[in-house]
Amino acid sequence: MSQSALPKLERLPHPSPVADDVRAGLIADPGFGRVFTDHMVTIKYSEGQGWHSATLGPRGPLTLDPATAVLHYAQEIFEGLKAYRLADGSMALFRPDANARRFNQSARRLAMPELPESLFIDSIKALIEADKGWFPPVEGGSIYIRPFMIASEVFLGVKPSSEYLFMIICSAAGNYFKSGAPAIKIWISESYTRAAPGGTGAAKCGGNYAASLIAQQEATANGCDQVVFLDAAEHRWVEELGGMNMFFVFDDGSIITPPTGGTILEGITRASLIELAREEGLTVREENYAIDQWRADAESGKLVESFACGTAAVVTPVGSVHGVQGSFTIGSGGPGQLTQKLRAKLVDIQRGTAPDPHGWVDRI
Ligand code: PMP
Repeated sequence: MSQSALPKLERLPHPSPVADDVRAGLIADPGFGRVFTDHMVTIKYSEGQGWHSATLGPRGPLTLDPATAVLHYAQEIFEGLKAYRLADGSMALFRPDANARRFNQSARRLAMPELPESLFIDSIKALIEADKGWFPPVEGGSIYIRPFMIASEVFLGVKPSSEYLFMIICSAAGNYFKSGAPAIKIWISESYTRAAPGGTGAAKCGGNYAASLIAQQEATANGCDQVVFLDAAEHRWVEELGGMNMFFVFDDGSIITPPTGGTILEGITRASLIELAREEGLTVREENYAIDQWRADAESGKLVESFACGTAAVVTPVGSVHGVQGSFTIGSGGPGQLTQKLRAKLVDIQRGTAPDPHGWVDRI
């Protein structure tokens, strides 16, 4: 298959961006995922031609034929990352190269074409530059970036599409937790699993999330904030939450996090926290941890903290765990010391208030 050179992002004029005073009102308290910026990126892929028709233009609705493949067989992947305003006023992304790599891992699993990493990162930077007026003026405000790719061939046969559409949209995001992260209540899903060996658990594809919604609904119905999934084969090992990875902290200061064996998403926050904890001299083991052990260790006091982590909420303490077999509380039920320390270490690097020896902060 012949592939053309990387397409250049063509900048289309925006006839009617949101007026300054309206935008100021929208971003004063944007919450998450509802206040969208003025522009979007679209890049097309056609078999035989490769990536082409790259534009950065006004954000607007798509027109899709009802037989477009993605609407039927869910051949779709996405990413999620944030742009931050640093203490010195400049703008930066956090480890966007890791998101670009994970996007291509997802693409391979879903039989989709890979997007050159530089095209992924440069398009994001151009879009943030165009929409930099959308940073919420609140402490901890950011722009949440959502790159995604859909199968756009108009065909009802079950096969990989011959055409794809890659897009990036952005939304203004407030501070997820205004005064530190409160501890959340977690529901153990006994009836539903998220991912099986050989399945798509390690890919960031929409289908994974569609399949997890009923379990999240069950969690909410039981007064919990999030669902924790167990492994599909034995229903024994803790895997992850619907959109966050899990960590367990013990009384000797050691930490366990479930291994990335193909059934959980390889979180970039997870990978960063493992490095930061090890640099603190802590032992971090990527090891299976059983739900019964979690309960026993919480009850004996051997387990002192548990937390979940991901781009959206950074680090979220887990206060209690609930399920058909009853409930247990972790530590005091509130945010633990190490949880808060690791969170602060990561946030300080992301916001440019601490040195960045790893080169994780990528200025725009
Ligand atoms: N697990 C799942 C299922 C997720 O959707 C996410 C969010 N991308 C994460 C973990 C955390 O990943 P990251 O730290 O890269 O945001």
